[in-house]
Amino acid sequence: MSFISEKSKSTPRSQIREMFAMQTGLDNLVSFALGEPDFAAPQNAIEAAIASFERGETHYTPNNGIPALREAVAADYRKRGLDYNADEIIIGQGAISILNLAVTTVLDLGDEVLLADPGWANYSGLVTQLGGKPVPVKVTEENGFMFDVDDLRAAITPKTKLILLNSPSNPTGGVASAENLRQIAELAKEKDLYVLADEIYRALLWDDEPYTSIASFEGMKERTIIVDGFSKKYAMTGFRVGYAAGPEDVIAAMTKHLENVLSSVNEGVQWAGVAALTGDQSYAEQMKAEYAKRRKIVIDGLNEIDKISCLAPKGAFYAFPNIKATGLSSREFAIRLLKEKHCVVVPGTGFGEGGEGFVRLSYATSEENIREGLKRIKEFVESL
Ligand code: PMP
Repeated sequence: MSFISEKSKSTPRSQIREMFAMQTGLDNLVSFALGEPDFAAPQNAIEAAIASFERGETHYTPNNGIPALREAVAADYRKRGLDYNADEIIIGQGAISILNLAVTTVLDLGDEVLLADPGWANYSGLVTQLGGKPVPVKVTEENGFMFDVDDLRAAITPKTKLILLNSPSNPTGGVASAENLRQIAELAKEKDLYVLADEIYRALLWDDEPYTSIASFEGMKERTIIVDGFSKKYAMTGFRVGYAAGPEDVIAAMTKHLENVLSSVNEGVQWAGVAALTGDQSYAEQMKAEYAKRRKIVIDGLNEIDKISCLAPKGAFYAFPNIKATGLSSREFAIRLLKEKHCVVVPGTGFGEGGEGFVRLSYATSEENIREGLKRIKEFVESL
């Protein structure tokens, strides 16, 4: 017998950690590794959290979140044409906890989850640790790194229960078109599958195409859980507030599981969420404008380098350049760039086998870092 379960042993570790471990001790680093906004949290959110604690709100809160925040989230969805009420919303500790509760609620042991390869590594980790089976479905540069519905269809087995959709995507910056979402919705209904839509980067869309949620298609609200949070749009990663919108019975089941993991989320950060959502949006808009500027510098800079080509990401704050012409694997490229130029990128294979030949750059870092990093990448590629 082993102290550690097979489920635990087979849960993969994030390869991004490996890059972090390798960079310790190196000086003059320029890093594109971190998927975390480099901006401070909004002042009104900070003040709302402090005011709450000072009011003495230092106790347990309702398991599904304080009514004020659930109502604010529901109202925000209604503004975007999605008809949710506060009983169809749950507040968790970061979107990651919400993803975990959603998967716990939907899957029975051995159920299969279709997810994008390359895709955010934590998805396969959390599906595995909860006893489900992640089934990677290749997404390609030609398809803007979004699902081809025929590939999804081909991966379906009698055990398939859930499609995990992440648009805009980490790591690729891909965004599903409304037509693509419609096709996925049709497939989900035809095959009686459910959709977990991680929309945490929804506010960071770079083309003119408006935000579309898969839940907005006919018959989809009842088979979709939308996950979102405050970490990216509002630069509030450390507050750890995320939420989901879904059918009332699913949210009630998620609440039952939340009680077993978190009991409840602390009150101050939930009031910070209310302030962020309902207050002045100009700071969030400024951050978005800054990302837009950086995005252009990154794409132009990468595409100027011989042997590198980069699709213009349609959303989020990641670029996912193709480095195949350098002749190096993703891992070799990232490790040598780190050792030779003290510049950190994440190998595409950290997001699945389908990431081979690509690396991920986060441009949630200063313009100065971006310009210096691009210079180093160029020198590195030219030295090969
Ligand atoms: N989903 C995706 C795709 C992410 O990239 C992240 C954060 N890196 C999360 C969810 C988790 O966000 P949170 O900080 O709200 O837990």
